[in-house]
This record gives sequence, structure tokens and C-alpha cells, in this order.
Amino acid sequence: MNGFWEWLRRLLSGGSPQRPARYVIALDPGHGGKYSGAAVEHPFQPGQKVMEKDITLAITLKLAQLLRDDGHHVVLTRDRDVHLSDDLNSDLRQRAEVANTAGAEIFVSIHCNSADNPEASGMETYHFPGSTRGRALADQIQRSLVQAFPERRNRGVKEGNFAVLRWTSMPACLVETEFLTHRDSLLFLLDSQNQQRMAGAIREGIYQYFRT
Ligand SMILES: [Zn+2]
Repeated sequence: MNGFWEWLRRLLSGGSPQRPARYVIALDPGHGGKYSGAAVEHPFQPGQKVMEKDITLAITLKLAQLLRDDGHHVVLTRDRDVHLSDDLNSDLRQRAEVANTAGAEIFVSIHCNSADNPEASGMETYHFPGSTRGRALADQIQRSLVQAFPERRNRGVKEGNFAVLRWTSMPACLVETEFLTHRDSLLFLLDSQNQQRMAGAIREGIYQYFRT
């Protein structure tokens, strides 16, 4: 923008120039809208379901707020309960496109895990096979989560050929926070304070990555 008009805009909006955003960070709350992700019986509300899409959004919005408070430019693939396309393939591609178009420096997709085995639990983080920087990002986020929650099982860092990791053009990772299908992990995921702490741990992992 022209310098004068930028100055005038700031004057009229009553603010001093904002601290420049340090990083452009794309966050992807897994699923949304008609794609609920994993769904399980709600432990406290009979007949209700806990849906993955709601937990991923809650954690991601908390993470976005933390990063924005620190002056970063956060791009969200969704900030409410919507899908991006009626076609799943296209929905996933559009999530990657949001990050690519914004020129994001990293992409972090947030999910909850599920398994047929009700004993399965723990946290794990995926990166695209062979991506060195993706692996570095996944390593730092996983390490930070494990440090924040030493009582939870560390399932480690893994390679995953997920669509959002495949189509994003920047270092990317996908965090599987905990299992909806595990009784104790479900209670953990539903707790807003735990969601906030997970957001804080993921933020720390992101900052560690940028230091490497
Ligand atoms: Zn998912």
C-alpha cells in the first residue's frame, strides 16, 4: 500500500504500527462439517457423540490464539464447523492450497486418533516420507508434547502419506493428539485445560523447529 494511505489508515484506526508477524503458520483442524472424523459415545451425555472435528477445532483455535498473541500470522484452513468441499479429495486438496497460497512457512494438521483396540493410547506425529524438514518439525512437536505430558504414551514420530502432507509445499506435519477410542484418553481430550496445554506444547515445538 502507498505509504501515505498506510499511515492514514493507521492514524484513523487509532493504532500504532503492529509488530510485524514473524512467521506465517498454517494450521489445519482435521475434518469439519460433514466430515466428522472419528466419533464415539459421549461419556457424560447419553445419546450424544464426541466428534473428532470438534476437538481438533478446539485445540487448533487455542493454538492459533497463542501464536497470534506472539505476533505470528496464522492461516487456518477452517475456523468453524465446515467442510471445504463435498468431495473428500478436493476438501483435503483445498486445505493444502490454503497453506500454499498464503505462502505459509509450516503447516500443522491437528487430529485425534482412533483404533479398534480400546487399549490403544498415546500421542504420535507424522511427516511426509522422506521430508527432512517435515521430520524436524514433527520431531520438535512430538518432543514438546511428550515433555508436557510425560504420563502419556509416546508413540513417536512416523512417516505418513497423508493427502495434506503430500500436497503442501512447505514443511508439514500431522499431530495425532490422543485416542478418542480409549476411555481415559477421551476424558483427557475433552478437558479444555488439557486442550490448552496441548496447544501450548505444540507452540513450543513450533518455536523449537524455527530455532533449528
Ligand atoms: Zn483425523
